[in-house]
Amino acid sequence: MSLLQQIKNKVRSKSIHVTFVDVGSCNGCDIEVLACLAPRYDIEQYGIYVHNNPREADILLVMGVMTPQWEDKLRILWNKIPDPKVAIAVGNCPISGCVFNRRESYVDPPVSKHIPIAAEVPGCPPRPTEILNAILSLAPVVFRDYEEKMK
Ligand code: SF4
Repeated sequence: MSLLQQIKNKVRSKSIHVTFVDVGSCNGCDIEVLACLAPRYDIEQYGIYVHNNPREADILLVMGVMTPQWEDKLRILWNKIPDPKVAIAVGNCPISGCVFNRRESYVDPPVSKHIPIAAEVPGCPPRPTEILNAILSLAPVVFRDYEEKMK
């Protein structure tokens, strides 16, 4: 591996940009994601930066069960994120529909039907440490040697 590639891998592992979207949650999972930003979990100490611009993101966190209003919007948002990128489903809602997945329900889980999901963090809601672990364990694997994979 070239020195330049090693430097890129090192920088990427220490500079992970995350954005998040709620496609119809009860806000329980959103609160746990926000807790990651607060001083107790302090997500930035791991080199993870959270912001609202998908064009600057590497990782998309998806919370909530899939509502019809979000189907097109989620795809548009996903397409705005530059490669390399991954999406993580946070909570039981985007994984299975959780308590909202009933026969008469109008929601359309799982989110993996709509965009590719690289990892799932189950829980109702999952703990902030589990969300952090998913980001930290997934990012280096996905971004390692990205240029090499593209050749
Ligand atoms: S998984 Fe649970 S806490 Fe999270 S959005 Fe769904 S119902 Fe709410």
